[in-house]
Amino acid sequence: MKIVKYPHPALRHKSRALSLIDKEVRLQAGRMLELMYEAHGLGLAANQVDWPFQLLVMNDLADPEQKEHERVLINPVILDRKGKQEGEEGCLSFPDLFQKVRRAKTVIVQAYNLEGHAIEITASDLSARLLQHEIDHLQGVLFIDNMGPIARMASRGSLRAFERDYQKAQERGDLPSDEEILRSLKEREERHGKDEPPVM
Ligand code: ZN
Repeated sequence: MKIVKYPHPALRHKSRALSLIDKEVRLQAGRMLELMYEAHGLGLAANQVDWPFQLLVMNDLADPEQKEHERVLINPVILDRKGKQEGEEGCLSFPDLFQKVRRAKTVIVQAYNLEGHAIEITASDLSARLLQHEIDHLQGVLFIDNMGPIARMASRGSLRAFERDYQKAQERGDLPSDEEILRSLKEREERHGKDEPPVM
């Protein structure tokens, strides 16, 4: 498993809600947490590892020792947003690109945890920013979409460089074609849960 970079099509894929929390989901969450800590990120959404389901992991301290800050959220939904905040944001799929992004100051999020329990979280400031960033990912929305005109203009050069690197990697055969990536996402979406024996 590795983190895909812009403009990998998985980043624009709207993730499917998980209808079943099985061994695959638990393994996936564990691997994503490892990868997030390795990359020193505060959060990681499933699209960023080319997995087409609504799952995100986060730790607003980016510290694997601080487990009480660790969260795995399944099918998260923002129920309410209040206030405004503006601050610099980066993304593991856009290395070294940091720009100001405006977000709600406080959010109320509903989700399921890995045990399948419904939870509700009220978060403000950095945690709220993180939740909005990661939940956007699951909808195929990226932080560049939320930038104001100045930040967007300032990012243009970096985005072009990411696009060139990506195209070169495809030309070298280090990455499959966009069509293949999209086909594989669709196949895995449809297969999930089908191999499980029925629970009675
Ligand atoms: Zn991100």
